[in-house]
Amino acid sequence: MKAEKKYTMFDYLIVGAGFAGSVIAERLATQLNKKVLIIDKRPHIAGNAFDHYNEEGILVHKYGPHIFHTNSRDVFDYLSHFTAWRPYEHRVLASVDGQLVPMPINLDTINKLYGLNLTSFDVDNFFKSVAEEVPTVQTSEDVVVSKVGRELYEKFFRNYTRKQWGMDPSELDKSVTSRVPVRTNRDDRYFTDTYQAMPLHGYTSMFEKMLDHPNIKIMLNTDYHEIMDMVPFREMIFTGPVDEFFDYKYGKLPYRSLEFRHETLEKEVHLPTAVVNFPNEHAYTRVTEFKYLTGQQHHKTSVVYEYPQAEGDPYYPVPKPENALIYNKYKKLAEETPGVHFAGRLATYKYYNMDQVVAQALTLFKKIAAQEETATILNGGKVKLNPNGVTLENIGSEIG
Ligand code: FAD
Ligand code: UDP
Repeated sequence: MKAEKKYTMFDYLIVGAGFAGSVIAERLATQLNKKVLIIDKRPHIAGNAFDHYNEEGILVHKYGPHIFHTNSRDVFDYLSHFTAWRPYEHRVLASVDGQLVPMPINLDTINKLYGLNLTSFDVDNFFKSVAEEVPTVQTSEDVVVSKVGRELYEKFFRNYTRKQWGMDPSELDKSVTSRVPVRTNRDDRYFTDTYQAMPLHGYTSMFEKMLDHPNIKIMLNTDYHEIMDMVPFREMIFTGPVDEFFDYKYGKLPYRSLEFRHETLEKEVHLPTAVVNFPNEHAYTRVTEFKYLTGQQHHKTSVVYEYPQAEGDPYYPVPKPENALIYNKYKKLAEETPGVHFAGRLATYKYYNMDQVVAQALTLFKKIAAQEETATILNGGKVKLNPNGVTLENIGSEIG
């Protein structure tokens, strides 16, 4: 008897196995019982949050330090299904005028920098006395000079930003330097979010649990262009760069890149804190010692230096008005593209932290779930094929 050929029709093809893609894959598989193929052109899952044990056995973040922090209980509870946590509060020092001082700028930063003994009240008055009047705060320069004046702006922000972004803070949207607060108290934590913790066994382990489901197939080392026409699927979730998806129809969207130089040192501890920022010296912006983040005990230690680059893997969307105009055109196109949903930092061109990407993905999932429900009712149980997808009739090979 001739065996019948069996094909797997994927309900969803998900491009990118970072936070955006993996959260949606997990939700579709577990909540809607959808069959999902998640692919990534890299040789691993977890996107930019990927961590691994290096050759010395030290847990490092391949794409630079990733510290989890959020005010969203929903996001924290959701991720807690896939990981236990290690409480961790991040601290950063900045190398300025030959000293290492707390960053964000706080009371101790000012006292140490100027050899003073001010109180919170005094430092508040000091900031007021040096702050510049800016009628409308628009740029990343405006934000800082209107709070702490030009001298501190020059010492802590101007050169770091020029290095990181390849442009002056006056050309960047205010949202960039607004990420870093200014304080008049002695709080030296980088973040003040309600939930601050690191996945106990690392990010990759958390992603492995998220994607461990019979409805989810993972394909690595695969660019979506290579398989689009070979894999039958109904709908697509795209989490790569949105301009690339549309063949740069409206021109290239600038993304800032970084080169990561990892080093392992023959000593137990290298830095006085997890991260030291170098606004004014060196070609790198900051150095990070991973053991502070992970809590790992090891007789050696691993660090990473971040060298900003114009070319290379896209890591940061560049928030400035011209780019927002270009992105808005792609956004419109994305909204008009049936059967494809866009999510994540690259596909929605948003300078999002991990928790914001998780929240965005959970929101998109809810929208998709509502659409699925409507489609099922309208089609009497059968869901229509996506016109961009491949149908069973036009594929020649079996996909299992
Ligand atoms: P990504 O993680 O970029 O995933 C997208 C995936 O799509 C990638 O793996 C890529 O390989 C894949 N892909 C792209 N194109 C294709 C294609 N054509 N075919 C197949 N696959 C494709 N956030 C924090 O909350 N805290 C931090 O401390 C923090 N530190 C950071 C430090 C650095 C240096 C950087 C760059 C980011 C940091 N972030 C941090 C932000 C965090 O990395 C992102 O918010 C999050 O990882 C974005 O997830 P994503 O799924 O949108 O994108
Ligand atoms: N920044 C700065 N000096 C610093 C730290 C940050 O000028 O010591 C500015 C810089 O423009 C940077 C932005 O603030 O890109 C946001 O800093 P954050 O630490 O949030 O950057 P990320 O961790 O996302 O790279």
